[in-house]
Parts: sequence; structure tokens; C-alpha cells
Amino acid sequence: MKAVCMKLFDQHLHSRHSFDSHAEPEDNVRRALELGLAGLSFTEHYDTHPDETPDCVFDENAYADTIAQLRDQHASKLFIGKGVEIDYQADNMDAIIAFIERNQFDIVLLSVHWSEGQPIHKQEIWRDRDPSDVTRRYLLSVLEAARHCERLHRDRPRVFDVLGHLDFCKRYSDRFAGSMHIEEHMDVIEDILTTCLAADIVPEVNTSTLRNDMPDPMPGPATIKRYAELGGTMMCVGSDAHIANDIGAGFNRALNMLRAADIEQLAVFQSRKRQGEPITE
Ligand SMILES: [Zn+2]
Ligand SMILES: [Zn+2]
Repeated sequence: MKAVCMKLFDQHLHSRHSFDSHAEPEDNVRRALELGLAGLSFTEHYDTHPDETPDCVFDENAYADTIAQLRDQHASKLFIGKGVEIDYQADNMDAIIAFIERNQFDIVLLSVHWSEGQPIHKQEIWRDRDPSDVTRRYLLSVLEAARHCERLHRDRPRVFDVLGHLDFCKRYSDRFAGSMHIEEHMDVIEDILTTCLAADIVPEVNTSTLRNDMPDPMPGPATIKRYAELGGTMMCVGSDAHIANDIGAGFNRALNMLRAADIEQLAVFQSRKRQGEPITE
């Protein structure tokens, strides 16, 4: 059985408006049109840690101009979303919220890239340590981020729409320690998922690991299934493409996993409003 979604959106990708991508936005759109996607939402990096701000050049005006130009040319064929991937930094939340409020985004991703004061992609964080312990600490950072969202949501509309790549650390435990330890910490995963539901934010299925010869997207089937059991009804999919060719990559597998877990809708965001698009067989 092959799962399909008639209105498929890639809602996690980067272009030259992110520090770590050289992709031309126009090339990304061309690729999405080739694939027949219904929507493509750019989610450029917004990083506020003092170690990263010198590299993270988020030019709000240039980005808005690019999106306006792309919409002028392609809006009749494809929804083009203006989004952002916010790096969770507990100390900077006021500035982050002000940044979100002064921009008109379609979708706001919250991603945890740091744990215990260090970026999780650094090899040092894994050196001479038990990878299962590093994994647990990373997941606890994700839980802290989700709880922050939940607190914010108590007295205002949600600030973030999507929790990006929930178990991102497995990419680096695989790379630096040669092992993955997610399912040992399902208790923390469960707390993260429950908190996402309370905070009204949707976890994404990030397919970038599938391009790195890893067996699962982030998160994998066990977490997706648990989310459905806890009452989750929709998730979104994102390629996290940094080059045009990676757009939409791995989506068939992700849709099959969602459907197998009884998640029957893809969460799609336009002007911050969420809609469910049916995933059928
Ligand atoms: Zn990320
Ligand atoms: Zn990303």
C-alpha cells in the first residue's frame, strides 16, 4: 500500500537566506514544481546564541523581497510560504518573540540544536561520554523547549507552530558514536509529545536523515506511533533541504509511516493557520 497526499507541502527547507545554504530560492521553487508539490515553505535559520549570531545573517528585508518576487511569478502554481526555523535558546525568548511578531510568517518552526550549553553537532559533546546519556540530556532539552511553548500558550495564541526534528541528536550519535539510543528514552519522548499536544504545536517528520543512509526520519516510527496513541492526529513533513535537489526527498516513506501509525492528516500552515490535508492510500 502506498500513502499519498494530494496537497503535499514541504515545510522545512533553506536557501541562501540561511548561513549554511547556497541554494537559489528560484531553484528550490523549480524543483518543487517538477515534483508537483502544492506548497513550499522556506524556513530560514534564525539563531540567537552569541556564538552563532556573527554567522547567522537573517536579512529580514531581503528575505521578504525574495518571497514577494517568487509569489509574483509562481503563486498560481504553488503556494510559497515564508517561514523560519528558530533555534531554541531559553535566555533569548523575549527577543525571539519580538522577532516573530514583527515579521509576517506563514510557519514558525522551533528546533533544538543545543544541549547543555553546546551545539549537539559538535563532536566534543559526544567524546568520552555515554551516548545514551548525551541522548537523554538532549531530549530533556527538547522537553524544556516544549514546556516553554506550553507556558507561553497559556495566555496567548501559540508562538510556535511546529517542533522541528524532535530526536535530532540521533544523527550525531550515529555519526560520532556509531549508535542510536532513542527508544531507551521513550519516557522523555512521551512527555515531549504530551506537552506538544498541550502547547498546540505539531511535531514534524524530518526526512533529512533518510538521505544520510539512516533507517528512520526524525522522529522514527515508534515515536510517530506513540504520538497517535496519545491523541495526535496530524504531523507535518519537511525535507530540511539545503540544496534544491533534496526538496521533497523521502516524503513517500514518511507518508507511509504516518499512515501506518494512523496519522491521517498532514498539518499545513498558511498565515500561521493550520489545516489538515488528508493522507490517503
Ligand atoms: Zn534544524
Ligand atoms: Zn533546517
